[in-house]
Formats: sequence, C-alpha cells, structure tokens
Amino acid sequence: MTDLPLIPVRMLNEHVYCPRLAYLMWVQGEFQHNEFTVDGAIKHRRVDRPGGKLPEQPSQAADDETRIHARSVTLSSDELGLIAKMDLVEGEGAVVAPVDYKRGKRPHKAASGVYEPEQIQVCAQGLLLEEHGYSCPEGVVYFVASRERVRVPLDEELRTRTRNAMTELRRNAASGCIPAPLEDSPKCPRCSLAGICLPDEVRFLSRTPVQPRPIFAARDAAKPLYVQTQRAYVRKDGEVLVVEQEKEQVAKARLAEVSQVALFGSAALTTPALHECLRREIPVTWLSYGGWFIGHTVTVGRRNVETRTHQYRASFDDGRCLDLARRLVAGKIVNSRTLLRRNWRGTDDDASAPRELLTALREDMRHAGRAPSLAVLLGVEGAAANRYFQNFQNMLREASDDLGFDFSTRNRRPPKDPVNALLSFAYAMLTREWTMALSSVGLDPYRGFYHQPRFGRPALALDMMEPFRPLVADSVVLTVINNGEIRPEDFISAAGGCNLKDAGRKKFIQAFERRLQQEITHPIFKYRINYRQLFEVQSRLLVRWLGDEIPTYPVFMTR
Ligand code: SF4
Repeated sequence: MTDLPLIPVRMLNEHVYCPRLAYLMWVQGEFQHNEFTVDGAIKHRRVDRPGGKLPEQPSQAADDETRIHARSVTLSSDELGLIAKMDLVEGEGAVVAPVDYKRGKRPHKAASGVYEPEQIQVCAQGLLLEEHGYSCPEGVVYFVASRERVRVPLDEELRTRTRNAMTELRRNAASGCIPAPLEDSPKCPRCSLAGICLPDEVRFLSRTPVQPRPIFAARDAAKPLYVQTQRAYVRKDGEVLVVEQEKEQVAKARLAEVSQVALFGSAALTTPALHECLRREIPVTWLSYGGWFIGHTVTVGRRNVETRTHQYRASFDDGRCLDLARRLVAGKIVNSRTLLRRNWRGTDDDASAPRELLTALREDMRHAGRAPSLAVLLGVEGAAANRYFQNFQNMLREASDDLGFDFSTRNRRPPKDPVNALLSFAYAMLTREWTMALSSVGLDPYRGFYHQPRFGRPALALDMMEPFRPLVADSVVLTVINNGEIRPEDFISAAGGCNLKDAGRKKFIQAFERRLQQEITHPIFKYRINYRQLFEVQSRLLVRWLGDEIPTYPVFMTR
C-alpha cells in the first residue's frame, strides 16, 4: 500500500466518470457547485442524518434475522485503502446491502439501469462492508427523482473492475500528472468543474483542431458588492447582506448573488457577515478611501498546492519567466495600439491614427517578443508606454481639455491631474480584480514572473493585467471622460495631488463594472464571454501552462 490517503469511494465514481475530474477533486482539492451538485446536496441532506446502527461485528449465528437499517454509515479499510460514508446499509444478520442515493431518475439508457460509475461506487461500498465481516452479494442504487431501486449484483467481474479503478486512481494520484481532458464529451457540459478544467480550451491549445464549446461562458456570474459609504457597515440578515449607515439601511444584496465584497475607507463588516462570506468563499477586499488596494480576506486558502508548486518552480526558471513576460508585454502593446487605432480623434480630413505611430508600436511589439532579457524587455515596454501616453490625449473628446481633462504625461503617487487620477484608480481596480481572479484559482498573486516580488505588491496580478490595462482600465477612463459621465467637479485637488470625490468614484465604479460585464468574442476560442469571466479563464489557462498541459500561455489580444 502506498502512503496515499484512503480513497473516498465517491472519488472512484468520479474517476470512472472522468479520470481528470477525480484528479482535480482529490489531488488538487478543486470543487465547484453547479445546479446538479447543489440539487444533489439538498437531496442528500435527509439521508445524511444518522439513524439506526450497524453492529460493529456482524452476527455469527446463521439463523440471525435481526434487521439492519443504518443511515449515514462511515467505514474505512487500510487494507483496501478506501473510506466511504454510505447513505444506507440494510439487511438481516450478517448479510447486508449498501444503498446509494442518487438525485436523478433511473437512466433508461443504461442496460443494467445503473451507469458504470455508480456500479463501481456501490461495489466499493460492498467491499468495505465485507472487509468488516459482512456478506454483501449485492448493492442497491436508489433514484430519488423516479423513486426506483435498482439492484446491482456484486459479481466477480464488477469486483475486478472496481479493484482496477482503485489501482488506476491511485496510480494517477501518485504520478503527479493530471490526466488529459475528455474529447468532445457530452459529460463536460454537465460537469461542475468544466470551468476549472477547461477541457475544450486545453485540447484546442494543445493543437487538437476542435473549436471549444462555450461551456465556461454559459456559467452565471454573481456581482461584487462595493461599499464606499464612509462609516457604513455590512451585516448579515439571513440570506442577505445589508449595508447600513447610522442604523439606516442604504443597500442590500442577496448572498447568493455576491461574488466579492469591496470595502472602501472606514466601511466595515460584522463578524457574522465576514464568517458567512468566508464560508461561501466570497472574498472581502479592503481598499483605502481613495481606492488603493490594501489587501483581501479569504478562507484558509485553496487546497491545490500542486498549482502553487508549479508556479513557484516556474518563477525561478529564467527561461519561463522571460517567455511569459515577453508575451504579456507584447500583448499589452498590441492592445494599446488597438485602443489608439479605434479611438483616435483626428481631423475631419484624417480621422485615423498616424501610420508612423502604429508602425512604431508594431515594432515595439516585435522587440518585446524577442527581448533577450527582462531588463531589455523593461526598456521596450517603457518606450512603448511613452509613445502610447504621449498620444493618449488624442483619444479624448475635443472639448475635454476645456473641461480640465488635459493630459500631457503619465504621473502617479500622487496623480496630479484628473486624467491621471482616473488612470491610477482604474489600475488599482484592475489590480484588485486580478488578485481576486488569481487567488480564486489557487495561484499566489504575490509571486510573479515579470514584476519582481516586493512587500505587499501582487506581482502576478500586475503581470497578468498588463494586456488588460488598455482594454479595460484605459478604455473605462476614455468612456467616462468622452461621455461626460465624470466632470471636473468630481475631483478634489490638495497637497499637489488630485483625487476623485465620492460621487465621482461611485460613477467610475459603475462604469468599470459595466466594462467587466461587457461581452466580447474570444479571439481564439470564438465564444462570447465577459471580461470578468475572461480573467478567470486566463488565470486557469495560466495554471494549465504552468502544469505543462499547454505549450504556451495564450495572451488575450484584440485586433
Ligand atoms: S469537464 Fe470534462 S474533461 Fe474536464 S473534468 Fe469534467 S468531465 Fe472531465
């Protein structure tokens, strides 16, 4: 027996359904609910209540007809390397049958009335019962929706298949190598981990020419709750988060519809509300009054240590760091160029961006892609950024300078004018979003490949957001200025710095949220997806690249 932990029998079911699914769940500790798993959990609540008792030793008397009806029975065996919590064990004397409850209807497509994963699961339960001295000639699967019991004879052939599945699962776990995704399988759209696994995307990027199905993009997206009212506090009231200021309710949001809570300045959260957020894996982020990202509170952390091991290993590999950094910087330059091209406000005679500028940026992009070191790359990035920001004013509405939105150069800490104040705030918002996205997939946002680790700096978030600075942050800044959503009176200048007032910040956050919710067509996968979902997909693709499942990290670039 290896030193692997006992296999939960449920994992055998997952393994037979899809070996990659079992690996993700058991080895990498991933889990995500979907409608099927939520329904299953609800239906299991009743059977999970303990009731009756399974005698520790089965009766030795041949004529013992004592009825056994024991719910929620946990048994394990070092010999078998298995552990199971059985929904129900029923029988008489020493002869019993495990009964496994399934949420759905009996599948009439399966000749035996039970699919293979359920047969293996109930057989493994039978093996465990036999290890504990019982005789177990059959198991039962009970389908809650159709209220049907289907008997599963535990014959030699099924026992062999079950033992083989156990060996395979153990071998996979010990290999440290995640199994490949299923190919164009109808199982994937029903799989709760599809958004983590990215089966079609991984296959596509591994050069299997099948266009990915929009499995990920079909998922619902909850929304963040921003609380920037000063001295407001958030408390929990049943299934709802209530925001109050001086005991007056100012807002509320259903917990099920909240993806994260962002607290500005002195806004606070009660302990019960914080506990509930942690229980539901809703991250809470803390920002300064001006929107500077201070930190975040999450649960004890993702269990998929394998992902972080890959990340740390790659972060010490100069070749991999340079490879990823080049792609990210080149992607940022491409996207900056696209933004300039699309938003250039030229004259009536010539509305398009100057050809020399676009050519120079294309050259910068090429140099970035070939930079021999991070130091050279930094120089190329700086040159491209100068070119871009020198021309940023040309994307602002003609009258914007009359309104005080004059932009000549990028400055920060503190930003000295309204445009720079907006850019700084937008980058802080983007950093926060990326920190959340990366930590939600189990990566360490503080260990980067291009940006160097420095205290409190989420280096990986800064790396990954590079291509999205123009597409999301700069784009929102242009929108709020050019649409007149934010006006000069929305700013306050003091001590050489310029900052948004509360009302302006609120309008900016709304515009930023609109941008994150905006759907775009993924240039590689061709399905529609919004920016927030895209951040998660890109984070998960980074995980796949770090784990050597795909040859390169595909940077998001628009044309
Ligand atoms: S999405 Fe498909 S390949 Fe991925 S774990 Fe689920 S069933 Fe397996």
